[in-house]
Amino acid sequence: MKWALIGASRIASGYVIDAIRAQSGHEIASVLSSDKQRAQEYAREHGIARSSTDLDEILSDPEIGAVYISTTNEKHHPQAMAAIAAGKHILCEKPLATSLDDAVEMVRAADVKGVVFATNHHLRNAGSHLAIRDLIASGRIGDVLSARVFHAVNLPEQLRGWRINDAAAGGGVIPDITVHDADTVRFHLGEDPVEVVAQSGVSGLGQGVEDSVMSVWTMPSGAMVQTHESFTHPYAGTGIEFHGTKGSIFARDVMTQRPVGDVWIVGPDGMQDIQFEDHNLYVRALGEFAKAAAGNGRPAADGVDGVKSLAVALAVREAADQGKAVRVDYGGI
Ligand code: NDP
Repeated sequence: MKWALIGASRIASGYVIDAIRAQSGHEIASVLSSDKQRAQEYAREHGIARSSTDLDEILSDPEIGAVYISTTNEKHHPQAMAAIAAGKHILCEKPLATSLDDAVEMVRAADVKGVVFATNHHLRNAGSHLAIRDLIASGRIGDVLSARVFHAVNLPEQLRGWRINDAAAGGGVIPDITVHDADTVRFHLGEDPVEVVAQSGVSGLGQGVEDSVMSVWTMPSGAMVQTHESFTHPYAGTGIEFHGTKGSIFARDVMTQRPVGDVWIVGPDGMQDIQFEDHNLYVRALGEFAKAAAGNGRPAADGVDGVKSLAVALAVREAADQGKAVRVDYGGI
């Protein structure tokens, strides 16, 4: 299958180009950028045959079967709607859109058109998270009472552009990182947050957008979830914990793009290290996408998953802005 990259982005060059090329029979035929020179340089640097500044030109190529959208967040919706209309399968970056209505529209349109629509939530592809999900599903910690997510990082220098100063482009730590934590918690618990409270702030990087947030979510089961996301924490490290009636799962350094970290479980018999596979997260995500596009199964995270993670993030932002509890609106999906 031939792919077009919609967006000459760092996430594509750092991870997704290689992950597409790791799939048998998949190749990247063209790249779109808003800037002609950057498009040409990007194509040359990454061995991509064609480049363009014209989305319609790319989408009208019948040889293109799928697109990977990794532009800034406000462009995802119009580009995805155009790609859906052209009948292309779509892997879209998170957050799917800057509004819930837009995200719902994208997912419904893809459904009607019969194309695969996936959200690039990489964390649920990690061996660590797959192992945690299995531990919880098998009842090893009993009924889950609470979860804690530590996802306060030091935003790398090269990413300190639109993420920290451009609200219109979808900047801020909530659309950037809280969406991932929402997806990860949903993946582990198999349920969707009902209500959230939150506080957000600026702690050194944000200009007109938040760079730090803490929130507490109520789950339908009654479990409570506590999360912390930030761009300004050089030494905090990341992690996730699930505490249940029969045991607790601890994981450190697992809220990351790399297949690293430690997972262990503590229960009545003491502590046990949990082994997990160390495959590339993005290669697995693209593998699941490739199978779905071939008519076999579903993507690791589909469009509905993308709508729901965005819905939680928007509720967290509203709760922080208004200083009150907010029920999560999933837009009828
Ligand atoms: P980038 O800032 O690298 O790219 C976004 C856009 O910025 C590109 O489409 C490009 O515009 C422009 N751009 C890129 N590099 C330059 C440059 N050197 N000079 C001028 N403009 C440039 O963003 P990211 O790759 O960090 O993020 C893109 C999307 O991917 C976002 O939606 C983000 O949320 C998501 N993301 C997801 C991750 C995941 O693991 N799932 C991880 C990181 C990001 P143009 O295309 O017009 O040339």
